[in-house]
Amino acid sequence: MGRRVLAIDGGSPIRREVLPYGRHQIEEEDIEAVARALRSSWLTGGPRVAEFEEAFAAAVGARHAVSFSSGTAGLHAAGFAAGLDASREAITTPLTFCAPANAVLYHGARVRFADVQAASLAIDPARVASLVNERTRALLPVDYAGQAADLTALMELATERDLVVIEDACQALGAAHRGRAVGSIAHMTVFSLHPVKHLTTGEGGMVTTDSEHYARRLRSFRNHGIDAAAREKSGTDWYYEMQELGFNYRLPDFACALGRSQLPRLAPLLERRRRIAAVYDDRLAKLPAVLAPSEPEAGQGSWHLYPIRLRLERLRVDRDAVLRALRAEGIGAAVHFIPVHLHPYYARLGFARGLCPVAEQAYRELISLPIFPAMSERDIDDVVTALGEILEHYAR
Ligand SMILES: *Cc1c(COP(=O)(O)O)cnc(C)c1O
Repeated sequence: MGRRVLAIDGGSPIRREVLPYGRHQIEEEDIEAVARALRSSWLTGGPRVAEFEEAFAAAVGARHAVSFSSGTAGLHAAGFAAGLDASREAITTPLTFCAPANAVLYHGARVRFADVQAASLAIDPARVASLVNERTRALLPVDYAGQAADLTALMELATERDLVVIEDACQALGAAHRGRAVGSIAHMTVFSLHPVKHLTTGEGGMVTTDSEHYARRLRSFRNHGIDAAAREKSGTDWYYEMQELGFNYRLPDFACALGRSQLPRLAPLLERRRRIAAVYDDRLAKLPAVLAPSEPEAGQGSWHLYPIRLRLERLRVDRDAVLRALRAEGIGAAVHFIPVHLHPYYARLGFARGLCPVAEQAYRELISLPIFPAMSERDIDDVVTALGEILEHYAR
């Protein structure tokens, strides 16, 4: 049986149109919901904001949900609510998008990176504990790829050392930890509503909390630091008091209409992602150069990403060469993530290679395969076929 010539070597690609690693899904009913909002008298600051927030809070089992113009804005606000300032430190993971670390720096606080665990690629609670000192105020674990971090250990540590846990669940809407929904566990949980995430409002974010105090601080920060109670107390509609330095991080009504419309479809969307992950698990088990992502607790992940690791000792080439070959076949694979402390900005702050060796090694091996609800069995087939042929071609 003659082997196919890889597309990167001039052969014809497995797919003509590139399969992206993620893609949003908008239904006709979502478009109608947005159109209704646009025809109403409220474009922003109207009733759809609270409607979406209440439905979201109920969906994750939290008392309060506060919407933001992005997940990053939500992280910024959560840091404010937690009391981060220039005299404080916060600890986060290096193996993530830059937003959680940036959110610490926005407050002038010092960011510390705790390396990840080799199997889960989630922040290692033991390393976190070793970095906690009297200046530490907050922990920012990230639910990598949609798998909850070790929230039990981190919440215990937080209680012991009087810290605030701000969980970055931007990839983990619908995930759970020990049977509890993500969004109902940490002091504050931050979600993103960017199009590549589980639900989208175009741009947008949500912070959930059970604390009345945090919810009030979050709402104030979202609206220039203006205290809503002062207006109510004044008995007029023009009076307000700015009490803190906040921002305009509000999410418009038509965006909330879009999010509210999609929310009831979360369960089937998650089901589809889990099914795709299970098919990958099964079919990739036959590829000796692939280490499939681990799910710390079966059936609890939300599978925002499906990040495989290459066993480089079995290959003649590096990860970048495999990624290039996949792209040539029309498979839009990606890499999540470049460790945050290796970005030039963080290097200029003094963070250096070698700080988090587990994350740095994982970065050399990681490839995110396409995963999104609208993927067909045929799409999955193309990914597995392309990857199998490429890895066989480059096998040592
Ligand atoms: C997407 C994402 C963010 C940022 O969310 P935005 O809504 O794009 O600001 C933050 N952290 C993680 C882990 C993410 O995946």
